[in-house]
Amino acid sequence: MARVFNFSAGPAMLPQVVIERAREEMLDWQGSGMSVMEMSHRGKEFMSIAAKAEADLRELMGIPSNYKVLFLQGGASSQFAMVPMNLLPGKGRADYINTGSWSKKAIAEAKRYGQVNLAAETSMTCPAQDALQLSADAAYVHYTPNETIQGVEFPYVPETGDIPLVADMSSTILSRPIDVSRFGVIYAGAQKNIGPAGLTVVIVREDLIGECLEGTPSMFQYKTHVDADSMYNTPPTYAWYLSGLVFDWLKNDIGGLDKMAEINERKAKKLYDAVDGSGFYANPVEPSCRSWMNVPFTLANADLDATFLEEAGKQRLTTLKGHRSVGGMRASIYNAMPEEGVDALVAFMADFEKRHG
Ligand code: PMP
Repeated sequence: MARVFNFSAGPAMLPQVVIERAREEMLDWQGSGMSVMEMSHRGKEFMSIAAKAEADLRELMGIPSNYKVLFLQGGASSQFAMVPMNLLPGKGRADYINTGSWSKKAIAEAKRYGQVNLAAETSMTCPAQDALQLSADAAYVHYTPNETIQGVEFPYVPETGDIPLVADMSSTILSRPIDVSRFGVIYAGAQKNIGPAGLTVVIVREDLIGECLEGTPSMFQYKTHVDADSMYNTPPTYAWYLSGLVFDWLKNDIGGLDKMAEINERKAKKLYDAVDGSGFYANPVEPSCRSWMNVPFTLANADLDATFLEEAGKQRLTTLKGHRSVGGMRASIYNAMPEEGVDALVAFMADFEKRHG
């Protein structure tokens, strides 16, 4: 078997033990005589899988009891619309922090439903708390703790007083412990740190669930999904199951989010040290806001990009091409990327520099 170190930004690597477990249970889940893919979402087998996944996620993240956890479809992109549809009523305006490509998409969508105040706008860094121009009457403050494309990550959680803080955590959720009680809504597409594509996790504080903008479809109302325990319609059952296996891995194999954070910090440091210690590679992000999960870097000579990618591929280091809007390289090193993968990349980069630098 020849698995690669896949540095994709998402869908991304899953822990090998999770895939192996899914393989073992593929034809016959725990004596049920069927695959999880074939189960009714309302049957007792799937209900137990769903409940365990939620309980494990709650334990891992320390989600307080006054928060609901939803397992939805539609991706983080649907949340760009669901957040304003569910949170704007009464106020009509919200604050947004723009730190990169995904912030911009969230802002563009919110503008369809209400007034957006830009609380801060930065490039290749994130704003300091005292630079945030927050409005007193905003329905919520939205930000992107980790910009997957630029590799910009907030080293702090913005303080917004009584105004609910909404976070698109798609590419940082579960990478480190967070204090969920600081947030009104947290959402994330699953395909980076949670599980396979097709599932979107939304964590929403109870008091924010209720009235929606007029005309909001049932499927876009948090209340619909809260009232039906995420089973208003057929949920993405297999993705939910696999995500549950990932939560189990984080809890029992890794030992929780404190441990995961230690590993992630170490992996990121190795890669940034390799970039900074060379005269050949460069990362454009202000050091205090560098992402632990997505590490973009350029080569001194862009003409060598194709050679770099080709040679890396031969070493089983794949999907390192940077996002088309940024160029260069990007190594996404989510939870499931083993430290050996980062070590192999660092060694390859040094060798490449020696031969081509
Ligand atoms: N937000 C962020 C920070 C992302 O990284 C992505 C996906 N790369 C999205 C939103 C969009 O997610 P989805 O494809 O699940 O809609």
